[in-house]
Amino acid sequence: MTETYRNLIDGEWTASGELVANINPSDHSDIIGHYSAAKVDDVEQAIAAARRAGPAWAETGLEQRKAALDFIGDELIARSEEIGRVIAREEGKTIAEGKGEVFRSGQFFQYYAAECLRQIGEQAASVRPGVDVEITREPVGVVGVITPWNFPVAVAAWKIAPALAFGNSVVLKPSETTPASAAILADIVHRSGLPSGTFNMVIGEGHNVGNALASSPGIDAVTFTGSVAVGREIAQSAIANMARIQLEMGSKNALVVLNDADMDLAVQCAIGGAFFGTGQKCTASSRLVVEEQVHDEFVERMIAAAEALVVGHALDEATQIGPVVSERQLQQNLDYLELGKSEGGEVATGGELLELATKGNFMRPAIFTSTDNSMRINREEIFGPITSVIKVADYDEALAVSNDTDFGLTSGIMTNSLSRARHFKRHSQSGCVMVNLPTAGTDYHVPFGGRKASSYGPREQGTYAKDFYTIVKTSYIGG
Ligand code: NAD
Repeated sequence: MTETYRNLIDGEWTASGELVANINPSDHSDIIGHYSAAKVDDVEQAIAAARRAGPAWAETGLEQRKAALDFIGDELIARSEEIGRVIAREEGKTIAEGKGEVFRSGQFFQYYAAECLRQIGEQAASVRPGVDVEITREPVGVVGVITPWNFPVAVAAWKIAPALAFGNSVVLKPSETTPASAAILADIVHRSGLPSGTFNMVIGEGHNVGNALASSPGIDAVTFTGSVAVGREIAQSAIANMARIQLEMGSKNALVVLNDADMDLAVQCAIGGAFFGTGQKCTASSRLVVEEQVHDEFVERMIAAAEALVVGHALDEATQIGPVVSERQLQQNLDYLELGKSEGGEVATGGELLELATKGNFMRPAIFTSTDNSMRINREEIFGPITSVIKVADYDEALAVSNDTDFGLTSGIMTNSLSRARHFKRHSQSGCVMVNLPTAGTDYHVPFGGRKASSYGPREQGTYAKDFYTIVKTSYIGG
């Protein structure tokens, strides 16, 4: 018997719907468990429970809120190895990456536990004599949280932690691709001492369960991380009810490599940024924009480094690149490889499917050369272990190419020139800019988000999160 992941509604674990298998992408014969697909009625019950629980949680003392968040954060950190293995098994990232994700998720809860005690308002002088003005923040209400599979615990953590810290109740709709890690997180939150109904979880597909959550008039705010296409749909559903919206979506991040870059570091950052996490990161370096003079050397060294990467079963300690998350995503990668070739790109290395000891979605990391920025492979998010090199004449062209995209989550530059780095930092049209660092990899105590089609609404993380999870109230007190 495998495990069944159930829905959490009003403090009770429920399993009414169809059971759907959770398959290991490293080994299709390994059924990790089954999730009980929530029905629209379950979503409505979860929202109703969150609405009932909301007012009491909003009035709960800050120390009690802090204690619950500390409990969740401490347990995630203590169990990061064990839960990291579950993520590796169901999502396909390596054990080290899975463990790192869970540890970081614990840090999000610990950070917002401390933020519970920093909820301090402002006082202002009135323009009217004898009147006091106070500016305070109140919870938004019921927050719908819709998350993707690529960071199944971390994305949920960086949304649930501030939602609870600022006094909101939550209904989580995790990705149906990663129900096991979602169930573990929900279990820890459930045991943290929150009043019943403050946190609920419904597992199921986006078009019914996710859509029922986003379009419900019982939701006050929707925070979503996922693809642009789904983000657009969610925004339309939520705005019909005047619900608040926060969307973090895809990208096409550029890493610029200048002639004066430290080449060892440039290759190291490009390999990590493009291929770790099997390239399935919203912050992945999917366009490598390289100055002419160092182009050939950079490409040669990238090919050698990519070919040295160990692709394998995610639970194998030696593996550096795990499988692609699903057969559907693998097919999409293969389609993009064909498309890139038909557009005139050359596959300098990789793209082959690998037959290993277990049947899984294994693909060698691929590098396209001879590409330009107008090709679809350089304009659309592929979300796999595929990156493109774009040769440019100089820094000005590199900056222009880097900014010539519909997206704007992260960008990076490899250079030893302080003035170029400063110029890039100021003129790069992305939400996060990296200098001599990979485009992927951010801190947890500062804001995270992008521009253009990558993000919509207030920033996530750090103190900036309160702008989404609270409503400002201005009070006038006369005598
Ligand atoms: P996705 O958009 O397919 O799904 C995300 C979530 O939305 C899932 O829970 C899904 O079930 C749900 N969903 C799907 N259709 C829905 C609908 N009509 N209504 C409501 N909910 C619906 O994305 P994915 O494949 O899970 O994740 C990959 C995407 O996530 C990539 O585009 C990646 O760039 C993005 N991502 C962005 C960030 C960021 O912070 N910017 C972080 C991680 C991933």
